[in-house]
Amino acid sequence: MTSKNEAYMQRGEQVILHTYQRFPIALEKGEGVHLWDVDGKEYLDFASGIGVFALGYHHPVYTQKIKEQMDKIIHTSNLYYNVPMVEAAEKLTQASHMDKVFFTNSGTEAIEGAIKTARKYAYLKDGRQDHEIIAMEHSFHGRSIGALSVTGNAAYQEPFKPLIGGIRFASFNDIHSVKSQINEKTCAILLETVQGEGGIYPADPEFLKEIENLCKEHDILLILDEIQCGMGRTGSMFAYQEYGVQPDIVTCAKALGCGVPVGAFLLNEKTASHSLVPGDHGTTYGGNPLACAAANCVLDLFQQEKIVEHVQEITPYMEKTLDNLVNKYDFITCRRGKGLMQGLELNHVAAKDIVAKAIDKNLLLLTAGGNVIRFLPPLIIEKKHIDEMAEILSCILKSFI
Ligand code: PLP
Repeated sequence: MTSKNEAYMQRGEQVILHTYQRFPIALEKGEGVHLWDVDGKEYLDFASGIGVFALGYHHPVYTQKIKEQMDKIIHTSNLYYNVPMVEAAEKLTQASHMDKVFFTNSGTEAIEGAIKTARKYAYLKDGRQDHEIIAMEHSFHGRSIGALSVTGNAAYQEPFKPLIGGIRFASFNDIHSVKSQINEKTCAILLETVQGEGGIYPADPEFLKEIENLCKEHDILLILDEIQCGMGRTGSMFAYQEYGVQPDIVTCAKALGCGVPVGAFLLNEKTASHSLVPGDHGTTYGGNPLACAAANCVLDLFQQEKIVEHVQEITPYMEKTLDNLVNKYDFITCRRGKGLMQGLELNHVAAKDIVAKAIDKNLLLLTAGGNVIRFLPPLIIEKKHIDEMAEILSCILKSFI
């Protein structure tokens, strides 16, 4: 007899475009840090929907707030103001120390907006139409043509060329490489504060500081992509806040809506007042009351439940637990990461095989580039969940010796 999981998988493969190598389970519901599939199997979740479900599943306040908003109004368009949009923008600017917000529907759209803003800022300055952006090798910024153009991964780009022009790539954490790409056409430097998909590489503090200084010196905009590493993930509301740098543009998504699709790009006053004006950029859904009610509630809950403080408290335990695995298994070469964005790099053993085996053993994990097991648990995890994860993972790792 086929299981419900198999039945949904077969039906799905008939009608859903095969752009993902999906695992053979259909998830149905969640509670806290646990998920259940349609056959009733329970999973401990260390993936959080790729860094989205920061507050855990089925949070009662979050669910209630969304229901309340649904009873009021779900959509108005950007021709009018709406209450959740204004409130969410106020909270987001306060949390980020940025000045203006443009709400989007996804991370990739936030990157598109950031690219357009940087080009317009430079255009208003010198009237040129050949501006360049410096992005990083092994970066990931999304799948739309603009975002793909700044994504430093040849395999993702190759079949979709020509991409947008004027993009140069530099080596991450190598300031000489960045400097060598700067010229009179450079309008922005774009990087993830902590590279996620590329293999969990935090920016070196000196590197980021030097980039900030370079940008100031040349009036180049500093764009930090915090779509994965922002929103408390690394132990501060935004990862750049730990580095003491202040970007000109920040992109944000994933945990901002904790499941309801919402992203944003945030600008400082200098950039906002010399770039996009009415007619330059828009979206039907961006700033939608339902999505912004979610963002609003998430930002409130982060404060009320002291999520950032919790990440700071639990991080050493997570790091110690992962370090124990590094010490125990020769084929784990190192641990890298910040806060609850961690990676274990493997040698000889494929990270994707470990992640597949983990599903059998009721644990959801992720991979990242360069043969890395990636850990992005809900930010509410406790020590007992870390212990449980390590026990399951250790049992799998043993079978690869
Ligand atoms: N930027 C970063 C750093 C990401 O990790 C992602 C998604 O994984 C994106 C951009 C694209 O975001 P989205 O998938 O919401 O379009």
